[in-house]
Amino acid sequence: MTVFTCGGCDNALTAPVSQVALPPLVHAYQGCERGWIAPLLEPGTFAVDPEPAGPPWRAWEEIDTAEAEARGIYAPTSYLPDGPSGAICIAPGDIRGTVLIPERCDASCWGLYGADGPNLVCTQCGHAVATRVDHCGHWQVIWLDPRAVHRTGGDDDVIGWEELRQAVEPVPPVEPSGRWSPLWEAAAGAALAHLLAVSEGHRVIMPDGPIAQVFRQTLDVLLPSGPSSWTLGLDGPGLSTDADIALVPQHPQTAETWPRGTGAAVPLPAEVWTHLAAHDDRRLLLAIGSLPYGVRRDDPPPPLPDQFRPDERVFIHTLARLPAVRQPWLRAIHERFARTH
Ligand SMILES: [Zn+2]
Repeated sequence: MTVFTCGGCDNALTAPVSQVALPPLVHAYQGCERGWIAPLLEPGTFAVDPEPAGPPWRAWEEIDTAEAEARGIYAPTSYLPDGPSGAICIAPGDIRGTVLIPERCDASCWGLYGADGPNLVCTQCGHAVATRVDHCGHWQVIWLDPRAVHRTGGDDDVIGWEELRQAVEPVPPVEPSGRWSPLWEAAAGAALAHLLAVSEGHRVIMPDGPIAQVFRQTLDVLLPSGPSSWTLGLDGPGLSTDADIALVPQHPQTAETWPRGTGAAVPLPAEVWTHLAAHDDRRLLLAIGSLPYGVRRDDPPPPLPDQFRPDERVFIHTLARLPAVRQPWLRAIHERFARTH
């Protein structure tokens, strides 16, 4: 377990936390239009963003191509954060020993945004150490400034790939409210970018089932039919496929992509992959007959969501970070989506 402490006085700033892979939700800005905001991470966990994050912000025009590519960005974006890389995110309930800076509580419609920099200081020495985000359109999270904190404690045991399916709790694609899971929407947005990149423009086909429900409609629009097509399947621990492209799990702690022997691999968060891996592909059939007269159900039928749509902002964000986006056909797709966001 890890405890982050203040760089100024060693005051403990977090509860003991274990490292997990950064969810593909960080830059997703989901929430406002959904009227729903949730913690980014589970309690007792932390994740590290390897990219620069937070202010100052630089306009794309100020950055030349070589610098952008050195940062792993291959397509234009409006602004780039130029803060430190390696910011650490935790669940809000895991913060300790801090207090808000009133003049940094840039209250917007629903809460704190942190656009001007850290808004939490150490209670012991007054050192600015973290940013609380509690704003519509953003996930509930606290970002620890990597320049202002120290990491103490030992490394956690890393689960082996063979333990993945037992160790990871699958996340279903539909929430109890009847809405698509935002994790699935974000995961699909990121995977769609990788899928396009490895497809090299070939049409991608897949059997009916949950993978088709997530990807087929969008891929059929973005990759028009041509003389050849590539197949898409599921691969990973305990599975095998000879599909040209396979959806494979990302390690839940290290974010490594499962090492597929041959064929292209597209990573999915482990919680999403394990749900697909456990899917038994059974079809539900209408039952014959009906409830007897006078028997009434006391609960409404479960709500069904609309057509699944991968998160477009995660898609744009991910595609811009793949070198393949420099190819004209893929760049055109990026531009088409980027124009609307
Ligand atoms: Zn301190």
